[in-house]
Amino acid sequence: MSSAETLKRHHLRVTDIREKVLEVFINSSKALSNEDIEKHFAKLDRITLYRTLKTFEESGLIHKIPHSGQSPLFAICQEDCSQHEHLDQHGHFHCLKCGETICMDEVNVPSINLPDGFTAQQRHLVIEGKCAKCT
Ligand SMILES: [Zn+2]
Ligand SMILES: [Zn+2]
Ligand SMILES: [Zn+2]
Repeated sequence: MSSAETLKRHHLRVTDIREKVLEVFINSSKALSNEDIEKHFAKLDRITLYRTLKTFEESGLIHKIPHSGQSPLFAICQEDCSQHEHLDQHGHFHCLKCGETICMDEVNVPSINLPDGFTAQQRHLVIEGKCAKCT
C-alpha cells in the first residue's frame, strides 16, 4: 500500500508533507525523534512537523514510545491501530550504546494487577540495554 493510500485509509487528507513523513517512518527500522525526521527534509517547519506527528498519532498511524531521553520518539504502528484505539501492546528496546529504540512485536507487555480503585489506560514496557548490533 502506498503512503497516500494509507493516509486515506486512516481518513486523512493527503498532503506532500504527510506522505513524505509517513514514508520516513515506513522505511525506518527504529523509532524516530523529531530531529531524526527533520534530517530527511531540506526544509521543514517545526510546527508543521509537530502537527503532522500529532495527527498521525491520533489517527493510529504512529505510536509514541516513552523513554528516558528528552525528545519524544515515535514508531510506525504495525497492527491495525485506528483513530480510537492503539493496539501496539508490545515492548520496546532502548540500546544504551547506539541510542536506537526499536519496537519488539514479539515481546508482550505483561498485565499487572493494580490496587483497587486504579484503572490502567496504557501499559508500557521499555527495556534498556545493548542491542544485537552492539553486543
Ligand atoms: Zn498504534
Ligand atoms: Zn545498539
Ligand atoms: Zn512500538
